[in-house]
Amino acid sequence: MISRTPHVLQLNADYTPMKVMRWERAVELVLDEKAVTVVSYPGRFVRSTSLAVPWPAVIALRRYAKARGRVRFSSRNVIARDHFTCQYCGARPRFPDGRPDRADLTTDHVIPRAQARDGVVYLPWSKRWVNVTCWENCAAACRWCNTRKADHTPAQANMPLRQYPRVPTQFDVLRLALARVGSVPEEWRDYLPEGWDLLAEAEREPGQILSVS
Ligand SMILES: [Zn+2]
Repeated sequence: MISRTPHVLQLNADYTPMKVMRWERAVELVLDEKAVTVVSYPGRFVRSTSLAVPWPAVIALRRYAKARGRVRFSSRNVIARDHFTCQYCGARPRFPDGRPDRADLTTDHVIPRAQARDGVVYLPWSKRWVNVTCWENCAAACRWCNTRKADHTPAQANMPLRQYPRVPTQFDVLRLALARVGSVPEEWRDYLPEGWDLLAEAEREPGQILSVS
């Protein structure tokens, strides 16, 4: 099933998937000859007064672009990187329709700000000093865990992390984008690594709504 204004999957010149984009941008890239349409949505056309072009479903860049892989650091993106899941107790607050309920999640400084020296903290697991507020020291936590952990490290609070926080990769970006569009269009499946559509669906998986109050 496709939504009324379906998104477009952009591949690099070597056909590795890069990102999900709005159709307007994709058509622009094709008309500017920066990308080619690999697959289009059958029977759909993007029309203007002077032309009608097949509606692209998958496009590929003509020239190889170095994947930027940079994700803007923000609380929202930390929570998204962590699959909208508390990294301490595993709570996954969700609305009844399966969408993540961000209101119950916070960003926790794993090594707390109160234990920082000149704004930096030591991460025992990676044996590195980092800024207190960065990808590697921030994790999604439900309100209850965040309050309980307070100004302690995971070891001091006896609250082990499910995984150590890391800088998100280009793959994380794509995974999140797929989750945002919901169902992955049939036309994209041949261009995504095996099982990625399932991953995207798992992000939205209903039925695991945990109470975190
Ligand atoms: Zn929790």
